[in-house]
Amino acid sequence: MTDTTLLQAGDRTVPPTADMVALKTGLFIDGTYGPAVSGLCFEVIDPANRQPFAQVARGGAADIDRAVAAARRAFDDGPWPRMTGAERGAVLRRMGDLIAARRDELARIEVRDNGKPLPEANWDIDDTAGVFHFYADLAEGLDGAEQPIPLAMPSFTAKAVREPIGVAGAIIPWNFPMLMAAWKVAPALAAGCTMVLKPSELTPLTALELGAIAAQAGLPAGVLNIVSGFGPEAGQPLTEHPGVDKLAFTGSVPTGARIMATAARDIKAVSLELGGKSPLVVFADTPLDQAVEWIMFGIFWNQGEVCSATSRVLVEQSIYEPLMARLADEARKITIGNGMTDGVLLGPLVSAEQQQKVLAAIERGKTEARLVCGGGVPEGLEDGCFVQPTIFADMAEDAWIWREELFGPVVCVKPFATEAEAIRLANDSRFGLAAAVMSADAARCDRVAAAFRAGIVWINCSQPTFTEAPWGGYKQSGIGRELGRWGLDNYLETKQITRRTATEPWGWYLK
Ligand code: ADP
Repeated sequence: MTDTTLLQAGDRTVPPTADMVALKTGLFIDGTYGPAVSGLCFEVIDPANRQPFAQVARGGAADIDRAVAAARRAFDDGPWPRMTGAERGAVLRRMGDLIAARRDELARIEVRDNGKPLPEANWDIDDTAGVFHFYADLAEGLDGAEQPIPLAMPSFTAKAVREPIGVAGAIIPWNFPMLMAAWKVAPALAAGCTMVLKPSELTPLTALELGAIAAQAGLPAGVLNIVSGFGPEAGQPLTEHPGVDKLAFTGSVPTGARIMATAARDIKAVSLELGGKSPLVVFADTPLDQAVEWIMFGIFWNQGEVCSATSRVLVEQSIYEPLMARLADEARKITIGNGMTDGVLLGPLVSAEQQQKVLAAIERGKTEARLVCGGGVPEGLEDGCFVQPTIFADMAEDAWIWREELFGPVVCVKPFATEAEAIRLANDSRFGLAAAVMSADAARCDRVAAAFRAGIVWINCSQPTFTEAPWGGYKQSGIGRELGRWGLDNYLETKQITRRTATEPWGWYLK
């Protein structure tokens, strides 16, 4: 790839190397990049080789204060919330165009930062651009979207108008770094909100690039502020800040619960997209190849670091053993390695800590289930944070490995005898993010889809995600929906305006 010139003075940058352009590494506050108030930085590590390759500003409470103040000014006094939806949409469309134009470079940053294979990073960036384009259209649609409300009482008219909720605080995870930023930034900006975004400390780089992209697209200063830093140091002060009107979070259940509890103090609006232990139910009339393909995509895509990953598979008894044999065979053939290498389908996990967590979970799994394949670090790849594609079978319903989210390339497979049993086992979880069913019988698929207690249901596939469709979970998998028109609702208030049209006295006190 071609190197770009070093960024301007005042930006904190890492100079370009052979495979990496100059990186934005400062906090983006009020339209400019700069260091943290503390002057501290933290290292960003490439999980394929455990080597640091960038240093990023380590934001803290003082930086969150500055960022919220900038967002507050931009909301209370700035042009952004007062522009037409079409004007905001034009800026969002340019952001989408700029992201699309820098796709190769942004995808490579994502691979270094997160570990995922390059073709998957390319998808992420294409999707990111698509999300900005989608919400550009929706922003335009907000113009003139007033709803007249028919009233039973004569001489009154009413209407409902949608308005931006205010300053939004967004806290995002590390599994799809730029795409998760887009899922929050694009609808918030479309709605007319201003925002403080805190990316994950493990993968801050593409989110920080969004600042430069926003500025280049003409987004007014202060509308989008980006503070890289750790959860307790930067995330917590953002959730506590009285200047923030709404919190949008994607991440683990315990952190989501803490954010919700903190938000309760000021009655901040909250939307949460949390974990999952999503089932895929495979009936015996499913072609074996297709079942194997979707199970593998469901759990090994993005190293299984996917909130909706198909981590529990229920297989109809008659095909249980043949399917298992084929699945194990194919899983062993997966090419594992550095995400930058051609042909790699499984990269390293995001960090040494995540690798250790998943390996420890696998050890626990070995005590309560049959290990079919994988179960450790692939040979020759000890330098990176790699974990083999791993399959467990024959666990009890209450086994820890069957019930808890691992966030790694580990799948549990279990047989079932009847449709009713499959539905019961699928729904027997504290999570309810996604669920999938495969069968040649369309009516059966519809019945099972209706019975699933989950926010996202796939029939004869697992994982394909569309910007137009609502995304979010039942039960402990979250609150609210992102994407589609539902994603906009997170950032809009609804105001009723009622007008009395009669001119005669009301006559209650003053007869
Ligand atoms: P994981 O354990 O997989 O990293 P988390 O839910 O802890 O998942 O992290 C998701 C995001 O939440 C990250 O951006 C992280 O920095 C942030 N975070 C972690 N702890 C807190 C906290 N106490 N308050 C606010 N944000 C937090």
